[in-house]
Order: sequence, then C-alpha cells, then structure tokens
Amino acid sequence: MAMRHFVTGGAGFIGSHLVDRLLRDGEDEVTVYDNLSSGKEEFLKHNLGNRRFRFVKADLLDPPALKEALRGHDLVHHLAANPDIRLGTAVPETDLRQGTLATFNLLEAMRATGARRLAFSSSSVVYGEAARIPTPEDYGPLVPISLYAAAKLGAEGLITAYCHSFDMQCWIFRFANVIGSRSTHGVIFDFINKLRRNPSELEILGNGRQSKAYLTVSDCVDAMLFVIGAAKETVNICNLGCEDQVNVARIAEMVREEMGLPGARFRFTGGERGWKGDVRAMLLSIDRLKALGWRPTTTSEQAVRLAVRAGLGKGA
Ligand code: NAD
Repeated sequence: MAMRHFVTGGAGFIGSHLVDRLLRDGEDEVTVYDNLSSGKEEFLKHNLGNRRFRFVKADLLDPPALKEALRGHDLVHHLAANPDIRLGTAVPETDLRQGTLATFNLLEAMRATGARRLAFSSSSVVYGEAARIPTPEDYGPLVPISLYAAAKLGAEGLITAYCHSFDMQCWIFRFANVIGSRSTHGVIFDFINKLRRNPSELEILGNGRQSKAYLTVSDCVDAMLFVIGAAKETVNICNLGCEDQVNVARIAEMVREEMGLPGARFRFTGGERGWKGDVRAMLLSIDRLKALGWRPTTTSEQAVRLAVRAGLGKGA
C-alpha cells in the first residue's frame, strides 16, 4: 500500500538521497519540510515535477506551519538539525533550538495530527568518548562531549518518552560518519576545499590520528529503510555503520592522491582532537543491524575513496 512520508531536512545531504530512494520505486508520496538553512533546492530539483513529491520551505521552529504541512502523513523521517558541531560551541543555543526544540515541535505536531511513526537521525556522538569499542547500542552511561551531541541525546529521550506516552513507534538511528555526493560539510569536503585554495599545503586539524567509521550515503538510506521495515518494537535503536575505521591522515592521503597533488605537504595543528567536542575514536557495533539482516556494501576506506571521487565530480 502506498505510504505518505514526511521528511524534515529533506533538502539536505542525507535527506535528499532518502527522498530519491523513496520516490524511486513504488507509489509512495513524499513531502519535504526544510528551511534551506544548510539544505539546497538543487538537491531536489529533479523531483519537482513528480506528482508524488511536494516541497514545503518552512521551519521546524514555526509550529503552525509544521502542523499544517504534516497533516495526513503516516511516517515521519526527522533529519533536520544543525549539522555543524563546532557552531554549537560558538553559539551555544544553536543545538538547543535546532535539535531539542525542533524535535519537541515535531513530536507535538505529530501528536496533534495523529502521525504515529517517527524515524530519527541520531548520531554516534551520543556515546561520547566510549570506553567500549565497537560500541553497542546498550552502552552506557551516555556522556556527550558537544552541545550537538547533547541535543541528539535530548531528542532521543523526548522521542522515546512520546512513544511510551502517546502510543507512537520510533526508529532511532545512530549514524557513523555518512559521506558521499551532495555532502556540504565534514572532513572530506574540508580537505578538498582547502587543497583547491592552496594545492601546496593541507592543514589537518588535530594530530591526524582521530579514527572513525564511515558509511556511504547510499548504504545509509538503504539501512534506514531496511530497519524501519524489519524492527517492530515500540522503540527501536540501531547503530548504522560499518566494521572498520579510517584515520584522518589516511583520508588526507586519499584526497591528495585523487586530486593528483602528491607534493602537497600536510600541516597538523596538533592535539588529539580536531576541535573541542570532536570524539577521538568511533566505531559502532553493528551486530544488531546484522542480526536484522543488513550489511554495509563497503569498508570505511572504500566509502572514503568513493566519497572523495564524488566530491571531485568523478563519480556517483
Ligand atoms: P544537512 O545539513 O545536509 O541536512 C540538514 C537539513 O535540515 C538541511 O537541509 C537544513 O536546511 C535542514 N534544517 C535545519 N534546521 C531546520 C529547521 N529548523 N527547520 C527545517 N529544516 C531545517 O545534514 P546531513 O549531513 O544530511 O544530516 C542529516 C541528519 O543526520 C542530521 O540530523 C544530522 O545531525 C544527522 N547525522 C549526520 C551525520 C553525517 O555524517 N552526515 C552523522 C550523524 C548524524
């Protein structure tokens, strides 16, 4: 049966890929709700003529507009958020408003309009500096080290409380680093832009040894939809990632290789993290995801290679 999906942040990097996937097969309808703060209309333009697609340019901090747009939808995919962890340190109310309050407004709009199912894009950052790696979903205590992470954890708490209080169902996805075409932030995007500005030297934040897991955006949306179909509890929390890590210096090498700049020098700013709030090492356990029946199609290193090429316009 055809479904009506509501995608907050659907003009963003991951959201726009999710929208493409939802419209690709079948008869489902998709409404994107996005204020275009970091998202781009061009990521949606190929869908604008599709009768199953609707774009609402509006803000989650505008409850009447949100309620109006949400009416009649079955399943909400909540991806809108401030994507920039560092901005939260510079302007501390950013994540409270764009993360916690925006999520509260969405939950209230769902309650008012009778929407019952919510898939939320959370993050590995809720684990903070986890002592256990790979980190499973039941790891605790959760001690966020950035305001962005605090807002993600706060939003998770609001969502699970609404599910239990108002008969809703949720899927909470804790993403590893998601990379690929249309990305507008993150380490690969930064390195490409820095080397375009100065092909002889690349500044690398930290000591280059921060090691993380990377997932292609195509695998990410595939896993999201798979888990929504497969996990049936009231509250379903699932890490989305892969089983290896890549460090920042290796990513810099791959960017340098793909840009054909073997002579570019690396200048490390030093210290164990790139900035305050940067988690040094992240690897998520994906045992739950595998038990449901899904596996990533690439390693982190392969995902980075593909994303560097995509960032340079060399591939998908
Ligand atoms: P993105 O910035 O490309 O997408 C966020 C979208 O939300 C943008 O289109 C932006 O315009 C929109 N938005 C922001 N505030 C809004 C508001 N108040 N009202 C309406 N729209 C608003 O970021 P992304 O990388 O695609 O991330 C999507 C989600 O996944 C975010 O919640 C992010 O925290 C989460 N996440 C991303 C990663 C990653 O590696 N990219 C990792 C973990 C979690």
